[in-house]
Amino acid sequence: MSDCIFCKIANKEINSEIIYENESVIAFKDLNPRAKLHFLIIPKKHFDTILDIDDNKTMEELLKAVKDIATKYNISEKGFRLVNNCKEDGGQEVMHMHIHMLGGEKLGTATHLMQ
Ligand code: 5GP
Ligand code: ZN
Repeated sequence: MSDCIFCKIANKEINSEIIYENESVIAFKDLNPRAKLHFLIIPKKHFDTILDIDDNKTMEELLKAVKDIATKYNISEKGFRLVNNCKEDGGQEVMHMHIHMLGGEKLGTATHLMQ
């Protein structure tokens, strides 16, 4: 996907603050952070949405990234929030699947996220 901004970030064609990388996954700071820590975790390979991921390796490495980042940023104990916005009703703006990882502080109740 040559015109996909997150593919460009994954290929390091455009700058971002990369905080973590494994074989299939890269994570970087969100440009517009909504919490003290706000990272975006993406597969290096392009998938439009979470529904399009068709290999276990990618899912495994996404979960590995979550665990590794939690350790690296010392938030395993206190916790964090993962969010995936899927398609228009879910509010997905960038059509390269990404998981928001938010933490580093006590977040508001999740109730508003469910409306
Ligand atoms: P979505 O609404 O698609 O789930 O979230 C997209 C997220 O990507 C937003 O939180 C937005 O701040 C972030 N974002 C959009 N463009 C860029 C960019 O070029 N660099 C970084 N680091 N984050 C971006
Ligand atoms: Zn992409």
